[in-house]
Amino acid sequence: MPNKGTPLGPLRILLVEDSAEDAELLCDQMLEAGLEGSFERLDSEAEMRALLARWTPDIVLSDLSMPGFSGYQALRILRELHPQVPFIFVSGTMGEETAVQALHEGANDYIIKHQPARLPSAVARAIREARREMERLRVEDELMRAQRLESLALLAAGLSHDLRNILQPLLIVPDLIRDRSDDPKVVRLADVIAECGRRGHEMVESMLSFVRGSRLPSERIVLQRLFQAVGMLLKSSLPGNVDLHLEVRDDRMAVEGNYTELQQVLLNLALNAIQAMPDGGRLSLLAERAAGADGERLRIRVQDEGVGMDEATVKRLFSPFFTTKAGGTGLGLVSCKRIVESLDGSIAVSSRPGEGTRFDLLLPLHAAAGERKDGAMPATPAGRGRRILVVDDEATRLSLLGNALASQGYRLRLAADGAAAMRHLQEAGMPDVVLVDSGIPLLSAGQLLTEMQDMGYRGPAIVLEENGDEAFADGLAPSGISVHVLPRPLEMQRVFRAVADALGTG
Ligand code: ADP
Ligand code: MG
Repeated sequence: MPNKGTPLGPLRILLVEDSAEDAELLCDQMLEAGLEGSFERLDSEAEMRALLARWTPDIVLSDLSMPGFSGYQALRILRELHPQVPFIFVSGTMGEETAVQALHEGANDYIIKHQPARLPSAVARAIREARREMERLRVEDELMRAQRLESLALLAAGLSHDLRNILQPLLIVPDLIRDRSDDPKVVRLADVIAECGRRGHEMVESMLSFVRGSRLPSERIVLQRLFQAVGMLLKSSLPGNVDLHLEVRDDRMAVEGNYTELQQVLLNLALNAIQAMPDGGRLSLLAERAAGADGERLRIRVQDEGVGMDEATVKRLFSPFFTTKAGGTGLGLVSCKRIVESLDGSIAVSSRPGEGTRFDLLLPLHAAAGERKDGAMPATPAGRGRRILVVDDEATRLSLLGNALASQGYRLRLAADGAAAMRHLQEAGMPDVVLVDSGIPLLSAGQLLTEMQDMGYRGPAIVLEENGDEAFADGLAPSGISVHVLPRPLEMQRVFRAVADALGTG
């Protein structure tokens, strides 16, 4: 039966077939088997290219040879334009050799026309597999993005710390110089140094606050779904001699946190476990309720039968850059610990050489777990794809703002000055909200907003302003745009709140 498993919904099916009768027969077979869908038929390269340029089918069913066109050509065109869409040969004349060649060239399946009983189930299966693969790619993508953000945060935190120490003398020395000299030139130089020190310090502080502020959105994570995703991701890299066992004792259990981050924790632990079992063994991930000091908690246990660790290794496990592997980074467990602790949880390890290793995470159970109806889907990030134009001439701030807002799900357009902003607007149209620094060159913030109003913009604006500066006084704002002023130095949480408020999504 094609319809066992999750329903496929209405399908878009492309038939590459020169015979209208044959095409109709195929449609009937699928409709009779309970597949719903709309059908398109064509039999030439030009038609196929034109159609695929504006339409993506869920599946392509193709004859092998047609006058002036062949199934192999159709397959190549499909792979070129929509590589992920499944393709099935349906032919009256397919010998075994041709069939093998078809699969070789990237077809997902082949079916003989006069024994079409297999068609509907083959179609359903190919579509399900393609969708699963796309879901896997999406999850992998999300994971890579989270890992990049994670390493960026680690880097920025380390850098800020070092810079702070280096800048310290710049804040102290000018006072000493002023005390020791009456020479106005020397005093002026001391002022210049003091000003640089102050600005450097401020940049470091705002970099730190960006790192903290660009924390990913939090949501209710259902363990069952998290484990499914982790299982799927692991399967693609699981050696044949490792036996993976996943178990969630209670399918209503949930925690509050960032889905991708928590997924990354489990993957890091699982990959370490796999690497510790070069001769294979059992890797198990178990989620269950456990008694904690202050009430019931969630325990996630990741256990392997690998080489284990001696005491000295266990002690250094969570130090940055500690690794015993030739190609290791020594950052996996550091970031696990950071993420788990940011969720108000703890991580414990027990291990013996030769006997394997067990990591236990204790996390707060989501209070409302079980009471809510569903919630298996992650919450949409705050930005929901809204377009935001950010105009700022200070490159560091611009790129940090861009990264932080993108991590919230906004679609970003960045411009370093008023003229670049105007070009963006002319090319790509108006954003949903604009965030502009009051000190941008070429056009002032006020002029830019007035220009935007003249172009039809009626959305909100957020203006960044040096604290106490009030360069962007009320009278300067065009009357049709509501302006919200944010003082610098920036705090990311305040920026997020201001943007959400301005859009009415806060
Ligand atoms: P990396 O995997 O890049 O070495 P990690 O922070 O993930 O960095 O791990 C640090 C070290 O901890 C590893 O190099 C390894 O020596 C040890 N380790 C981590 N997990 C395990 C495990 N399951 N079994 C044995 N050793 C482990
Ligand atoms: Mg690791």
